[in-house]
Amino acid sequence: MSGIAQAVSCLDGYDPEALPVDKAREAIRACLTPVADVESVLIRQSLGRVLAQDIVPGIDVPGHDNSAMDGYAVRFSDLNSTNEKKETTLRQIGTAFAGKVFKGKIQPGECVRVMTGAVMPQGADTVVVQEVCRADQERIVIPCGQKAGQNVRAAGEDLKAGVPVLKRGQPVRAAELGLIASLGIAEVSVKRRLRVAFFSTGDELVSIGTPLQEGQVYDSNRYTLHGMLQGLGVEIIDMGVVRDDPAKLEAAFREGAARADAIITTGGVSVGEADFVKQLMARLGEVLFWKIAMRPGRPMAFGRINSGADSAFLFGLPGNPVAVMVTFYQFVRDALLVLGGRTDAFEIPMLKAISASSLRKVPGRTEYHRGILFRDGGEWKVRPTGQQGSGVLRSMSEANCFIVLEHARGGVESGEPVGVQLMDALA
Ligand code: AMP
Ligand code: MG
Repeated sequence: MSGIAQAVSCLDGYDPEALPVDKAREAIRACLTPVADVESVLIRQSLGRVLAQDIVPGIDVPGHDNSAMDGYAVRFSDLNSTNEKKETTLRQIGTAFAGKVFKGKIQPGECVRVMTGAVMPQGADTVVVQEVCRADQERIVIPCGQKAGQNVRAAGEDLKAGVPVLKRGQPVRAAELGLIASLGIAEVSVKRRLRVAFFSTGDELVSIGTPLQEGQVYDSNRYTLHGMLQGLGVEIIDMGVVRDDPAKLEAAFREGAARADAIITTGGVSVGEADFVKQLMARLGEVLFWKIAMRPGRPMAFGRINSGADSAFLFGLPGNPVAVMVTFYQFVRDALLVLGGRTDAFEIPMLKAISASSLRKVPGRTEYHRGILFRDGGEWKVRPTGQQGSGVLRSMSEANCFIVLEHARGGVESGEPVGVQLMDALA
């Protein structure tokens, strides 16, 4: 048995003719091996990439105890206790600025004026904010009611030397860029960018720039895919439209296997399609053909395409423009993140909202209605966009979320809670 068929055959309840969404995702995951190649990049270039190393601080951040406020650094033991409701008068012996350390040591009865970020003067343990103090020359009057250690940021309170802070497999976002910079690290090791090739199949498709003949449509899937892949930070290889011609298709699959880690095709996997696309996919590698219990997006192929020593994962998506987006977000996104080396939790969050209308649904498949999440007073509600046909790409453009109606659920009454996935969370 081939590797792919073997991996999925172990899964409970695996039925290629009626595969629940979760099972399909699990089956795909069981077959994936993340890219192993790593490269060292300057930290700015690591934005959007996946860390291939743990980050362990070599220094404490901040490096010293320092003042969190502009005020006076004092010895707490010098202050009159809260109960006596008495002020304390201290003598200011100097000033500490951020980046300019006060060299002396505070003795009993003394204080030092400190600016935010200034290293705490020796002997001081507490900072009193300047607004509550009265200054008369070098005599500083401190009110009662201060707390020991207040307004002091401890050395290492952000990052501690030796304590790992970022894990390999984690993406570098803006916060991580700054965090790595705060450690003085100039270069980091990241996973190689995943290479993803895609092409559209269909004799009716023409590319932009060619006038439409009767019965032809412009290829939109390659543009949608371009947009969705861009959000994942992969290297994009757009192979154009490929005619429903066995020789041309075979050449395209082989080229994809040579150039990419994964190939995405659209069209050619549905029941009404010319069978040779499927036959070709099957002949060139180990490819499974699934009917997924979902709407839209029922037919899908998954497997590997081999060409000599080259090989790439294949995602054969349906042709309908909405089905392409739904299957991409539900399966391909997940798979590409795994292949790219991500090990953090990147599942698309499922939120709850109140359905503002009734929705037709049959049990036994997961449905992804295109929805508009909106605020109604204090409550978040969701309503479907108009026409929900899988060819109506406008429904995706009008939507800000998917309304996800789970497998076992039947119709939804207005006022019932439903799951929603925000489109902004999909990248
Ligand atoms: P198929 O899955 O190939 O049977 O295609 C299903 C429907 O999606 C047909 O109406 C196709 O014309 C349409 N379609 C397929 N590929 C594309 C594409 N790349 N851009 C726009 N529409 C497409
Ligand atoms: Mg087609």
